[in-house]
Amino acid sequence: MNIHEHQAKALLKTYGAPVAAGVAIFSADEAEAAAKSLPGPLYVVKSQIHAGGRGKGKFKELGPDAKGGVRLAKSVEEVVAFSKEMLGNTLVTKQTGDAGKQVNRLYIEDGADIERELYCSLLVDRETGRVAFVVSTEGGMDIEAVAEHTPDKIVSLSIDPDTGVTAADTAKLVETLGLTGAAASDAQSLFPVLYKAFVETDMSMLEVNPLIVMKDGHLRVLDAKVSFDNNAAFRHEELKPLRDMTEEDAKEIEASKYDLAYVALDGNIGCMVNGAGLAMSTMDIIKLYGAEPANFLDVGGGATKEKVTAAFKIITADPAVEGILVNIFGGIMRCDVIAEGVIAAVKEVGLTVPLVVRLEGTRVKEGKEILDQSGLNVISADDLDDAAQKIVAAVKGH
Ligand code: GDP
Ligand code: MG
Repeated sequence: MNIHEHQAKALLKTYGAPVAAGVAIFSADEAEAAAKSLPGPLYVVKSQIHAGGRGKGKFKELGPDAKGGVRLAKSVEEVVAFSKEMLGNTLVTKQTGDAGKQVNRLYIEDGADIERELYCSLLVDRETGRVAFVVSTEGGMDIEAVAEHTPDKIVSLSIDPDTGVTAADTAKLVETLGLTGAAASDAQSLFPVLYKAFVETDMSMLEVNPLIVMKDGHLRVLDAKVSFDNNAAFRHEELKPLRDMTEEDAKEIEASKYDLAYVALDGNIGCMVNGAGLAMSTMDIIKLYGAEPANFLDVGGGATKEKVTAAFKIITADPAVEGILVNIFGGIMRCDVIAEGVIAAVKEVGLTVPLVVRLEGTRVKEGKEILDQSGLNVISADDLDDAAQKIVAAVKGH
């Protein structure tokens, strides 16, 4: 689960990280009061969307010369004007794709005088099995270019879970980032605090870009991007209210209600498969034959007819889907349950695109019989290769 910047900052603040005062607003009517509650004279008006690159982003509605999704304002009037311009419009950044994201909330923040912009993130390093800091002196809006052209300027440090962030770790980070004076002393608590927040809330990523040294010498978390590990969601009731459904794919929300492992993709062949490995291979082989999958979907082992029905309905409701491939190897999953689910879904929502079905394994004979007797226009396939070729051919219209 991803959360908004203002939520991430509020969370980090409870751990004692230095963040600016700020107010989240949902309508331009709230902008004036929000700005007046801050000290001024510099304010920042920040689009809250689940994507980075907002500063350099462009609003679809405002034309190429308009300012981006993070703007410095020098008066309360400017805060109000910017809020009116940004709210409700669609921000396109490097991370949103061409469709962009509608800005439904803003964060009005007390502006900082910046001396240096640094980069600091925490993530799970799968090679070491530890949480690692990734830091760079070259923080700010061009970190991707730094990673590409001068990767040696990005340094990572993994943390021993038995000790947490030690004094030696902090010293290493301070040295790498060239921190001195007040910033170096702020760092003594900031790095352990970021680590503690990361571990205690089961984050999978925490990115502070930029972490700034202000003109007064102190550190501040100027931007914060947080993702939580969904596998640990069950032990974090307190984080549930932070979820913003408007940022999520409607099909994925529907799938999550049925506990389906579903990820929406950009292609036009809908896939219903059991087992993550088979689902991955199915996607691969669709690509091999020159088409693109519309989704990843693993209906799981002992799925019920209701679950299969829900899954099939999610696939058929996707307007991008021009053909469906059902690929089931019944081990625990029974082929007849799959067939019943498909038919129940088609009864409810109809079927307007070609359907290729490949069934194998437990109760395959019964499954095939159910499909045959349904009168559905099913193209049956013998194996994975045959199935992929047939659905790609059907979608391409030959
Ligand atoms: P992002 O573009 O989505 O990563 O949004 P950020 O929150 O990182 O903001 C983008 C850039 O805006 C930062 O790298 C800063 O250069 C600038 N910025 C953000 N907040 C402030 C602020 O309080 N003061 C000043 N001077 N610049 C800011
Ligand atoms: Mg940033």
